[in-house]
Amino acid sequence: MYFYFLLSHKSKKYIFPLQYIFNFASNKLKLSVYNIDNLVAFAQILHKSERIVLVGHVNPDGDSIGSLMGMKWYLEGLGKKAVPVVPNPYPEFLGFLDMQKEVLPYSEQSEAVKEVVADSDLIVCLDFNSLKRIDALGDVIAAAGCTKVLVDHHPQPDTIFDLIYSYPQLSSTCELAYWVLQGLVPLCGGEIPYNSAVSLYTGMMTDTNNFSNSVLPSTFRMASDLMEMGVDNEWVQKMVFGGFSEERMRLMGHMLYENMKIIPQYNASVMVLTKEMKEKFSFTDGDSEGFVNLPLNIRSVKVSGFFTEGDEFVRVSLRSKDDFSVNRLARGYFNGGGHERAAGGRLFIPINEVPDCFVKSLGEFIEKEK
Ligand code: 5GP
Ligand code: MN
Repeated sequence: MYFYFLLSHKSKKYIFPLQYIFNFASNKLKLSVYNIDNLVAFAQILHKSERIVLVGHVNPDGDSIGSLMGMKWYLEGLGKKAVPVVPNPYPEFLGFLDMQKEVLPYSEQSEAVKEVVADSDLIVCLDFNSLKRIDALGDVIAAAGCTKVLVDHHPQPDTIFDLIYSYPQLSSTCELAYWVLQGLVPLCGGEIPYNSAVSLYTGMMTDTNNFSNSVLPSTFRMASDLMEMGVDNEWVQKMVFGGFSEERMRLMGHMLYENMKIIPQYNASVMVLTKEMKEKFSFTDGDSEGFVNLPLNIRSVKVSGFFTEGDEFVRVSLRSKDDFSVNRLARGYFNGGGHERAAGGRLFIPINEVPDCFVKSLGEFIEKEK
């Protein structure tokens, strides 16, 4: 009574008719699960499979390791063997998702990887959609005769898979994997265990740049479900963002103060990490994770390019805001691809030529897109 009085007294417009409240509640129910089409097909394949290989992409990130481990724990709960493999090792900070060191990097354990692939009756590829994204491991996967399923959120998947779950509208492969598992539980049994929940939460959190990009209502719904399953957000935040080395922080300062160049005519920025700088700052894999996002905090910068010198090529990392498609930029000029606002690729030129090449490519691309 008192409650009603307060509402009606202060602002009458907040008293909704009963029908409105009913519609609102039932819409919420309909939206509470992101429906993935055709999960019966996946359930049937899983029913017949006992030895499953889960494949992640080169330079595995949080979404890659999170989706591999999220799937792994669920499948093991069904009594199946599930082995995660990746082309090369993941950065150290993701080690908390793989405490028993089960993820096999092909670059270091090629024989073991070949053996599990040869012995498998199902391959599930996660967080990439083209064999080009798994380097030399691509030949091993292509040669395997077993069923191949894709679970991924990148546009334009290859056609080599027998069954494709491709949802580029979702925040991350971990979000997609979460809705896939939600749909599989009633079909295959089992449950989403705590370890899966932590893995999927971590991957979604890192791929959305800590809930800032590509976040939909379904993403928050997933996050809240997972927290209800026991995931401690603050603990995950600490594991991901609170374990960096002093060298990484100094490198970040150096990149922003000394290295970042603004290209005003194209509203762009460029940073170049050379081998020399890597040595100076005792660089380890993953140390530059997230640096490419930083220049986008500048009001005028709409596209950011981060280039890392490697032994065989320059790794390209691109981010944008508003309606600038770095997916098309990466496909057209940097031998790569990705999402509309987060993409990457490779350049096969000396590192000192990179800034000029970036400016030239941007100029041509922007002209073409007009
Ligand atoms: P990152 O900048 O974090 O390395 O990559 C961002 C996104 O770009 C990744 O999620 C992936 O979708 C895409 N990407 C990165 N490198 C490549 C590449 O060499 N080829 C393709 N096709 N996509 C890439
Ligand atoms: Mn991803």
